[in-house]
Amino acid sequence: AALNARIAAETPERGTVPSLKNSVIAFSSLPLSNNTLRGLEFNAYTNMTAIQSASIPHALAGRDILGAAKTGSGKTLAFLVPMLEKLYRAGWSTQDGVGAIVLSPTRELAGQIFAVLRKIGKFHSFTLGLLMGGRNKNRREHNEFLQEQQSIPNTNILICTPGRLLQHLEQTPYMNADSLQMLILDEADRILDMGFRDQLVRILDYFPAGERQTLLYSATQTKDVKHLATLSINRKKVEYVGVHDKD
Ligand code: ADP
Ligand code: MG
Repeated sequence: AALNARIAAETPERGTVPSLKNSVIAFSSLPLSNNTLRGLEFNAYTNMTAIQSASIPHALAGRDILGAAKTGSGKTLAFLVPMLEKLYRAGWSTQDGVGAIVLSPTRELAGQIFAVLRKIGKFHSFTLGLLMGGRNKNRREHNEFLQEQQSIPNTNILICTPGRLLQHLEQTPYMNADSLQMLILDEADRILDMGFRDQLVRILDYFPAGERQTLLYSATQTKDVKHLATLSINRKKVEYVGVHDKD
């Protein structure tokens, strides 16, 4: 109840950006779980960047986010922090299966997101998976795929490249995204540039249309990104967050 009161008090009105451009807002002023705050503190993340302070309060309020901010502005924490809170507030545990999926255009970027998540999520008990192999080109890669298949039923948060996620959705018997709580599309503009549009559309078909929360981030706001948003964001509670400051 105390947490709910704080959330109510600190949730901005729709359409408002809670930070002035140059004001500094600490993560500790947000209604976050101690596990998340400790993870941030442990890694010396104290104050939010502009895109973080503009989007995290809305995401914590359960809204879908269409966010744009240039490379290096801190988009990773802008989606990982609300993701951890969403699963934490839902009391998500290992046997609940896949609760959140992060899609990233390249293996390298997926690996970076995974590394940040391991660091800031270390005081949570969610199980994490990184799905980004190639398509069974050789024995070693095939074994990697089999290993991923084994671990998926007990994994709460999946960081994936689009092709690999689709491969698991199509071929992994216990891959179950029916209760997915949050879908995150990172670098949506690059996902489209790299020609993953059709795979994305097929991936979206596997997910529940209902109350899933969707966070979509990109460096640029193009027409294609907006179109992807209409395909992937299926609720009316969308918050558009663009940060274009020069610093
Ligand atoms: P983007 O995805 O927008 O390109 P990243 O999430 O990769 O940006 O963050 C860029 C850099 O900024 C990283 O080195 C990250 O550790 C750092 N960073 C992100 N948020 C903060 C913060 N709140 N305080 C300090 N450094 C941060
Ligand atoms: Mg990024």
